Amino acid sequence: MEQTLVILKPSCVERCLIGEVISRIQRRGIIITGMKMMQLDEKILREHYAHLVERPFFPELCASMMASPVVCLVLKGVDVVEVFRAMTGATNGRKAAPGTLRGDFCMSGQANIIHASDSPENAKIEIARFFKPEEVFDYVPQNLDFLYAKDDLNQ
Ligand code: UDP
Ligand code: MG
Repeated sequence: MEQTLVILKPSCVERCLIGEVISRIQRRGIIITGMKMMQLDEKILREHYAHLVERPFFPELCASMMASPVVCLVLKGVDVVEVFRAMTGATNGRKAAPGTLRGDFCMSGQANIIHASDSPENAKIEIARFFKPEEVFDYVPQNLDFLYAKDDLNQ
């Protein structure tokens, strides 16, 4: 089953939305296989946001991501990268659709509460960046038969 990397940003942690976001993840039927609090530094952010290092807002983005600890999650599910990006919503919270996490919980293009991997290839790279192999628990929950039909799992 696919996995994805999610970061609950300082704008989530400081606004006491950790529980709201994790609650929605669990209610959707997405399996949490890794979870830890971390203080990010510029080194890891330069890797994680390599596609943005040259942009004028990068220093501010970096500062906003180091403003408090973050919570890093590994999520597991069928097509979970696509499913969770849809739950995340558009990058700018003001443009994110109501019902999405950003569309319900933020008003900012930068302080947009969560990061979510954008492809299965990037998810693998990002999980390896933020988690040691032994910190990811690739377990099968007891309720799997109630989360999925056999057809879902055999595609
Ligand atoms: N960001 C920003 N200004 C912009 C675009 C992006 O501050 O004009 C920040 C924002 O926090 C975003 C992050 O950079 O979540 C990563 O940008 P990306 O385009 O990868 O968006 P995402 O994948 O997070 O939707
Ligand atoms: Mg991105």
